[in-house]
Amino acid sequence: MPTIPQLLLAALLALTCAGIGVLAGRVVPLFHPYPPDDPENPDAGPPPPPPPSCPECRAEVAWSRWAPLPARFVLAGRCPACAAAVRAPASVPVLAGVLAAAVVLTGGDRSPLELAAFCFLAVWAVLLGVVDARVKRLPNLLVFPGYPIALVLLGGAALTTPGATDSLVDGLIGLVGLSVFYFVLWFIYPAGMGWGDVKMAGLLGLYLGWETLGAPVSGTFLAFLASAVIGLGLIAVGKATRKSAIPFGPFMLIGAFILILAGDPSPLVFG
Ligand SMILES: [Zn+2]
Repeated sequence: MPTIPQLLLAALLALTCAGIGVLAGRVVPLFHPYPPDDPENPDAGPPPPPPPSCPECRAEVAWSRWAPLPARFVLAGRCPACAAAVRAPASVPVLAGVLAAAVVLTGGDRSPLELAAFCFLAVWAVLLGVVDARVKRLPNLLVFPGYPIALVLLGGAALTTPGATDSLVDGLIGLVGLSVFYFVLWFIYPAGMGWGDVKMAGLLGLYLGWETLGAPVSGTFLAFLASAVIGLGLIAVGKATRKSAIPFGPFMLIGAFILILAGDPSPLVFG
């Protein structure tokens, strides 16, 4: 049973992360799908991804490469060109808040910086997953800033928590291991795996490795299992066919969060 301080902390962090989700989620409508391949020139290769732009007037929204989010746009919530209001999809604050509360209630005795690191992942994973589900892209502008922020927070937690340096080393092993694994999958069969999935894999490997060294393996297994179950479900209800491209990123995130919240099931299975 959670204690009263734990419940209060869960409520506080849920509200904080939901609030951050209301602001940060404003970037979600700025991302648009890849344009279709040029039928006149099928060998031209994939077109470049469209820049973040207003969903109403399509004016590009300035986003510094070194900033995790376009701060001025996020605070204003309006397109700088046409002043149209750009709102976060409701799923972003709701899921970010629920995940943050779940991290506190299932986390046992995480240190404050570790909690901050996992709450950051809750918000960032929701942003990435919702964008990928909507436009089948994991934009570099969102994927790459996740790494330095997570490394600073988990690095700080490792330095200030006794015994946590081992967790950080395991996390770095997870980061490298999952990046290599997804890169190999993509290299062997590029149609089955997006390049964005490869770029995001290391971030999840970092967190899963921090949990236990076996968690990146179990989390990846759960991602494939979840994608198979939901893919078959969509085919069964007629929402997809065997040829439909279903983005894999949300399943990688679901697999990772099942591991983080419920623990690694593999010792139960393999003894
Ligand atoms: Zn606009």
